[in-house]
Order: sequence, then structure tokens, then C-alpha cells
Amino acid sequence: MEYKTIRLRRGKEESLRRFHPWVFSGAIDSIDSGVEEGDTVRVVDADGNPLGVGHYQIGSIAVRMLTAGQEGIGEGFYNRRLEQAWQMRRAIGVVREGTDAFRLVHGEGDFLPGLIVDVYGPTAVMQAHSPGMHFARNEIARALVDLPGAGISNVYYKSETTLPYKAELDPQNDYIIGSYSGDVAMENGLKFHVDWLRGQKTGFFVDQRDNRSLLERYSAGRRVLNMFCYTGGFSVYALRGGAEHVTSVDSSAKAVSLTEANVELNFPGDSRHDAVAEDAFKFLSGITPGDYDLVVLDPPAFAKHRSAIRNALRGYQKLNARAMERMPQGSILFTFSCSQAITKEQFRLAVFSAAAQTGRRVRILHQLTQPADHPVNIYHPEGEYLKGLILYIE
Ligand code: SAH
Repeated sequence: MEYKTIRLRRGKEESLRRFHPWVFSGAIDSIDSGVEEGDTVRVVDADGNPLGVGHYQIGSIAVRMLTAGQEGIGEGFYNRRLEQAWQMRRAIGVVREGTDAFRLVHGEGDFLPGLIVDVYGPTAVMQAHSPGMHFARNEIARALVDLPGAGISNVYYKSETTLPYKAELDPQNDYIIGSYSGDVAMENGLKFHVDWLRGQKTGFFVDQRDNRSLLERYSAGRRVLNMFCYTGGFSVYALRGGAEHVTSVDSSAKAVSLTEANVELNFPGDSRHDAVAEDAFKFLSGITPGDYDLVVLDPPAFAKHRSAIRNALRGYQKLNARAMERMPQGSILFTFSCSQAITKEQFRLAVFSAAAQTGRRVRILHQLTQPADHPVNIYHPEGEYLKGLILYIE
């Protein structure tokens, strides 16, 4: 297939040669006439040597690279990339007895920039973050159900909020293939209702799976507070781990009822759980010091853009200080940031400031990140977004 060409300025090919998957608009020397948003283009260096093909987009990231060097994206390209992604998940044992909820495609980490696919049993939920992936959606959906052994029969496309608004693509959230066939997915033997139609992102945060398992290990006999509970993932693990009591809090009433439904699904009639719809800061101000000796803070991304970093760091400090000052001696705090714009050093500094402000003696037990089905391309450190600390508070 012939592609239109984007030529880079001299010296701007270095990062692509090192497999970084983005071309920034400032690196571009010229664009063939007629190139439109979402087109697949060939990128060449100043001397015309091929650097790979990618999806063109208007904005600061101008091309998201799909291949390197001479390679094009002919027939079967998405089948091959999805097959690689699936083989990797199988090789590392992410999909196993008791777990059928996992991330199959993590954008750049699976050499498919702009594409996210989460799988819940027979249903794949697909999100396009670039016009190029939006245009390829039907081909990708077909490749998903054709993936040998993966057992995917429904593909739900959910990109109404992820595509650039200005591109005016007007995507409709809907099934591209198949239809609704149940909403219960399994994670480490626990069951969860996943609401991809109305829920946030693809309906469930599979990225906290390993961290929820760690929480289970620390829960025995503890009074657990799960702040920002959403679907109640951490709460259900804490109950299985033998918590004395679990309180789940979320400002969204819908999240609170989803949490209650998920607790009921796994532990029918268990009186160790209650859930409250309230703002996190307000709830924390109202508790009595000593009420909870295991606290989870997993807020939404406080910094969605670089411009919001300073305020976000203040927010993390304030939130963590509020929790720390009310935790008894020997408590454990699981604290997270999923803001991609914030580095793990910045987050740690915000938590350090909270510790210093409250005068508590705090030690780091674990440093957490995203699980193996959210791989980070080593040449693209921007793909690392989830950061967490488990702290011992005295
Ligand atoms: N811990 C969850 C994911 C959390 S997502 C999991 O493991 O799946 C973030 C959640 O924070 C959302 O459900 C959102 O409704 C909630 N939220 C956002 N702002 C909030 C606030 N100020 N107080 C309490 N909850 C809030």
C-alpha cells in the first residue's frame, strides 16, 4: 500500500530510531498535500529514509507510530498485533483460573498507540484515543473476535469521551459485534458486575488487581476504610482477607450501589460492610481518630494535564494528611495516584509532605505500580501512570 509522507526535520528522527512511538508536530518539516486527520502516513527522515508508518492527528502529538523502519501495515496487521498482545498475557499468566478480567491492549505498551482494550469474559470493551484507531475500529473488532483461544464474542466500542473533541468524529458508544451477554467478570476468584455502558472508563479498574491482592493480605482483623471505592474492588478483597469491618466511600451514589451489589454478589448478607455516598474530604473530617486502621486512598486523577500539576500535588498532600492524622498507631495506608502527568517522585514528595505536616513516623512498606497487563514500552516512559505507596503509620 502507498502512503502519503511526512518528512521530519534533520536530527528529529533520533527518538523514532529508538522506538519512541510519537512524532511531535515541532519535529515535522513537511506534510504531503491531502493528508487528513486519522490517515495512515509514512514518516521519513530529512534524507527520505523510512522510519515507519503511523496515524496522523492534528495536535502536539502529530503521529502515533504503528511500525518501525520499512514495515507497513498491510492485511492482517491488527490480527498480528492482537495475537502478540494475547500471547504475552498468556505467557505471564494474567489470564488464569478465576480471572477473566484483564487489559488486552495497553496502547503504546502493546505497540498500538491510541488503543485500549479491556476484556471481561466474552466481552471486549474498546476505546480509541486517536482518529486513526477510530477509523480502524471495525477491523480491530473483527480481529478481536477472531483471536484464537481468547473467547471474545462481543465487542463494545466506547470512545465518546476519549477521542479529540475537535475532530468531530461523533463516535457512538455501541456494540460493533455481538450484544450484551452478562456483566459479571472474575478477578482472582471474586466476582464483579462491570458496567461498561454507564461506568467510568471501560467499566472497571483492572489496573488495581495486584494491589487489591496485597490489600487482602493486610486486612485480617482490621477496620478498613476504602475511599473512592467506585466498584468496591478493594472492599471485596478486604472482606475475603478477614477484615473486621469495611466502610466504602464514594461521592457518586451510583458507585456506592455498585459496591453494595458487588459485596452482595460475593458475600451475601455479610454485615461487616457498609457504604456511604459522601465527599472524601468531608467524610475524613468527620471520622474519629482510631476508627480505621487500614485506609485506601485511590482518588481519580487530580492532574489531567501538566498545567494542573501544582494544584494536584497540593490535593494529594491534603488528602493524605487528612487520613494520616486520624489513623491510630500501627495503621496501614494504601495511597495512590493515577495521574499520568505526575511522576512517582512528585507523588512521593506530596505524601512525604503530608507525613511531615502531621508529624507522624511513617515508613514505606511497598512501592506499587500498574500490573503486567499494562506494560510500559521502555522507550516510552510516559506509559507509566499508576503510582502507589503502602505506608506503616506510627
Ligand atoms: N478504587 C477504585 C477506583 C477509583 S476511581 C477501584 O479500585 O476500582 C475514582 C472514584 O472516585 C470514582 O468512583 C469517583 O466517583 C470518586 N470520586 C471522585 N471525586 C470524589 C470525592 N471528592 N469524594 C469521594 N469520591 C470521589
